Amino acid sequence: MTTEVHFDAELMRRYDREGPRYTSYPTAVQFHEAVGLDAYASAAATSTGALQRAPLSVYVHVPFCHSPCFYCGCNKIITRKPERADAYLERLYTEIELRGRYFDRSREVEQLHFGGGTPTFLADDRLARLMGALDKNFRLQRTPGRDYSIEIDPRTVGPDTLRTLAGLGFNRLSLGVQDYDPEVQRAVNRRQPVELVTAVLDNARALGFGSINFDLIYGLPRQTPATFRTTLAMVIAQRPDRLAVYGYAHMPQLFKAQRQIVAADLPDASTRLSLLQMAVQMLTEAGYVYIGMDHFALPSDALALAQRNGTMQRSFQGYTTHASRDLVSLGVSAIGQIGLLYMQNHKTMAQYAERLDQGRLPLHRGVLMSDEDVLRRDVIQQIMCNGTVDFAATERRFNVVFADYFGAELARLAALERDGLVARGERRVALTPRGRLLMRTVAMVFDAYKNAGAGAPRLSRVI
Ligand code: SF4
Repeated sequence: MTTEVHFDAELMRRYDREGPRYTSYPTAVQFHEAVGLDAYASAAATSTGALQRAPLSVYVHVPFCHSPCFYCGCNKIITRKPERADAYLERLYTEIELRGRYFDRSREVEQLHFGGGTPTFLADDRLARLMGALDKNFRLQRTPGRDYSIEIDPRTVGPDTLRTLAGLGFNRLSLGVQDYDPEVQRAVNRRQPVELVTAVLDNARALGFGSINFDLIYGLPRQTPATFRTTLAMVIAQRPDRLAVYGYAHMPQLFKAQRQIVAADLPDASTRLSLLQMAVQMLTEAGYVYIGMDHFALPSDALALAQRNGTMQRSFQGYTTHASRDLVSLGVSAIGQIGLLYMQNHKTMAQYAERLDQGRLPLHRGVLMSDEDVLRRDVIQQIMCNGTVDFAATERRFNVVFADYFGAELARLAALERDGLVARGERRVALTPRGRLLMRTVAMVFDAYKNAGAGAPRLSRVI
């Protein structure tokens, strides 16, 4: 993938429309309720038969937070009552037990991620019990090669909790930093001084956590190029191993908390673009490798290495080093993938609880990939992870003649080529430095559902 990025403000404005992030293909818009337990059981049986010893990925969703960050679009419940989490955990234990029956115990959990919400909303003893339940029903690893990560809220995690997390087997952390400017923090209701994050970081490093990730957001209210430059300089000084830099998507009609944001405080389109440009420039000048769509990593980090050797993948957790593992997802609204099946749990706590109280898995909707979906997913992954589409490799894997199968798509790409987003070779298409930030636009060309007019209004913009 080209490491260069060329900013063409006019071009980016022209192509800045809504588009999927392609953490899956087909995307969640195509999920439907006609697939249920039978499909899940059959996918799990096929996967167990074919991949008896293949490692698993496990995701656990903890939806609680102490206070709302106004930019947030996650599925979460704001509460200060720990007993709400206890009721949830009882159901989660049931789900873990029911779900574990579908997977052979010989399959080790190579990758584990706790997300939310705020997983550290759970008290240390609850986290320990939850890990115990997972260990009883799946095979957790203790080897150094495991990739066990958890999202933490630096405002509420002290040294004792970090020690507990390390003792439970977590070896990676992700911290929501977003922005260090006090005015911006006030405007989004998330106050966390840089000193507080530094203290968490120092403690975590002393405990041996590696590959620590920061999330940052550009496009927040009251953010200016001057304030964001300061934030970026502070972050660079802290030297996290990885960074995810997301654009804020203001959709107050969908996310209630965002109604607290004063629209007039939001940076305009051209300022947003300068903020993004600044992030790419400052982070790459500081030695970070620009990964995929919105990630950065130190050259020695596993993600940068995976991008370099072409093994990086895209999944519901963004970019990952773990090649196409089955993903067992647990908790309200969680989305998993078993073989060719994507499956999501019920999104409301009431429905999630009702199913489990009846002793049933809380499966809500999903989609079973067709052969064509698998082929298109592969091409879209190539774009999102490698920035190129290799015709010969695709032909070998899928037994098609690329130019015949994708004749209409290649014709559509011609317009993007004229605008300088992609360069077409004899047997490949590659993103150019000018198209690097518009990779979702290029990927959309190969999305059969989008091109057939299927879609939803709740997608973020591509910049
Ligand atoms: S950003 Fe994180 S901590 Fe803030 S409300 Fe959303 S899920 Fe909770």
